[in-house]
Amino acid sequence: MKRYLLYFLCFFICVALTPAVYSLMPEGLKPEISEEVSHMSDNPSASEKDKVRVYKTSEDRVAEILLEDYVAKVLFEEFPSHAPAELLKTMAVVVRTFAVYRMKNPDGFHPLSHLCDDPSCCHGIFEGRVTDESIISAVTDTQGRVIYHNGKVINPVYHISSPGKTENAESVFGEKVDYLISVETPDESEMKSFHQQKEFTKTEFADILESNGFTVDRNTGHKSWVSYIARTSGGRVKIAYICGNEIPGNKLVSMFGLQSACVSVTAGDNGFIFTAEGIGHGVGLSIYGGWIMAEEGKTYNEIIVHYFNKAYIAYN
Ligand SMILES: [Zn+2]
Repeated sequence: MKRYLLYFLCFFICVALTPAVYSLMPEGLKPEISEEVSHMSDNPSASEKDKVRVYKTSEDRVAEILLEDYVAKVLFEEFPSHAPAELLKTMAVVVRTFAVYRMKNPDGFHPLSHLCDDPSCCHGIFEGRVTDESIISAVTDTQGRVIYHNGKVINPVYHISSPGKTENAESVFGEKVDYLISVETPDESEMKSFHQQKEFTKTEFADILESNGFTVDRNTGHKSWVSYIARTSGGRVKIAYICGNEIPGNKLVSMFGLQSACVSVTAGDNGFIFTAEGIGHGVGLSIYGGWIMAEEGKTYNEIIVHYFNKAYIAYN
């Protein structure tokens, strides 16, 4: 599955520090904008909406890249080219939609650019010429097409894998989004790294809680520490009640290095066992689910409208 597991886990942890630094920079220190050589098509008459500005973190400059080239570079960098063709087309539309969404909705974190090439913030991009035929086909077969909802380009949130159901946006991000609602997803349990089990001794467990600012009464039996777990409608941990602390699901995930908030906690004689299913926050499109749907013969259009409620695909 190449590198996109790591990229995904970081994808929605948008880092705010870099832009703050740039906004304070004198003009002379701000990165230059330069035009990137086109890799897929020479198009000297391309309009502004056909070009995306990408801040290259290692070079400290902003590159102007044809949108379709950008999509190919991201796909080749982050997604396995042996994936089913309809999934690659799905992700081509998703990546293009994300870029257009950022062009239309600047986030203020990327001065002079719409995106950056840091995969922990936006998407990583391949630096060379993309020649992979599967990737190029996925991009050209969907050229110019993006996802809309109610007349507006969406923010096409995705994750790697969900067990049974995806998640409502408000359960994870705290804000309701009409096109990001919980839907059923195919059985993904046979896919790579779907299951995760992590064990902690009671001392390790308590140390982690305390180092994150939570209190632990080590004098009480550890089997009573986890008193209750409240779950979202998608089955993920909403609040874990541990030693009198109310711990949000995403905090539990980050503290204990879990791959998903769809997790159960079992207290054994010596410590705790976390058993997680799925990978990522569970909102929007499930890549594994889309993979299975593509193998079952579904088109990229069918995959996209399944995961994004009342969305439709149209030309940018
Ligand atoms: Zn970025």
